[in-house]
Amino acid sequence: MKKKILLIHTGGTIGMTRDSESGVLRPDRFYASLLQVIPELSAIADVQVEIPFVFDSAELNFHHWQQLAAIIQSRIGAVDGVVITHGTDTLAYTASALSYMLHNVPVPVILTGAQRPLGELRSDARNNLVNAVELACADIPEVCIFFDYKLMRGNRTSKNHINFFDAFVSPNYPLLAEVGINIEVYRANLLRPGGHFHVFDRFSPALAVLKLFPGCAADYFQPGAEMRAVLIVAYGAGTVPMQTGNLLARVERWLAEGKLVVLDSEAHGGRIEPQLYESGARLLEMGVISAGDMTFEAAATKLMFLLGQYDRPELIRGNFQKSLAGELSELP
Ligand code: ASP
Repeated sequence: MKKKILLIHTGGTIGMTRDSESGVLRPDRFYASLLQVIPELSAIADVQVEIPFVFDSAELNFHHWQQLAAIIQSRIGAVDGVVITHGTDTLAYTASALSYMLHNVPVPVILTGAQRPLGELRSDARNNLVNAVELACADIPEVCIFFDYKLMRGNRTSKNHINFFDAFVSPNYPLLAEVGINIEVYRANLLRPGGHFHVFDRFSPALAVLKLFPGCAADYFQPGAEMRAVLIVAYGAGTVPMQTGNLLARVERWLAEGKLVVLDSEAHGGRIEPQLYESGARLLEMGVISAGDMTFEAAATKLMFLLGQYDRPELIRGNFQKSLAGELSELP
């Protein structure tokens, strides 16, 4: 019997068409006829298409993630896997958010997209979609991104290239599967779900992000009282300037106001180690916490998720420093 796959289309280049005069790409609803465009999908699985919204992924926010989680929740038990087609720009954010929301998801949830629209020559859409559907029929119970022959844990992934088909990387976690002549699933790298499937769907937008650059005057950045967490994108292992910019004093103030302050790095590969240098060590002493080896996408969505789930700062703090869905490596 063919497996049942739910295919949710949300927009992005994969389903866009190009305006013949201006050359601008715009979302299109032609996905409704997807099975005529890629008939081989029906040979792989019984694919049911749903189109809750069609946007460039820059438009998406947690309300859209909540819509996706609700659709998936309503179909769990009736489908063997889920594929979500999505714009590549915020694909890693949606994948990270869904990984926290779909706790113990029992089936594969595979997000994919394309760098060139499905309707154009040399598009990568067909390849990504056919392989994502095939992988969604396998026993891979977690939220993943499939792109250009690689299956990656969704919350470990970042968009890394604007032009190449090989657009995503998983800097701090090995691949879950690779597609060549055969499909190679690396079982040892998969999550082992235990317990009941449950959807947690609350988010809060009370997150402010400060990205440092040399000479940056932190004084211009003034998160209001409604902001409950500040994520600092620092340098390297987690260093910040101490001599100029007044940042440490401002961090002290944010902490005194009860905000959670989190340190992340602009460098993607590896784990931040703030204790290595004086400025990072000072921040840790003050009560700032570290994003470890999480991607920026995983850390930012996790903060919005935890701020939505809990009021008590110690619960947000404690849960942020734990792996909820394989997004953070344990310290050796
Ligand atoms: N701007 C597009 C989007 O994220 C890019 C893409 O899909 O590749 O919706």
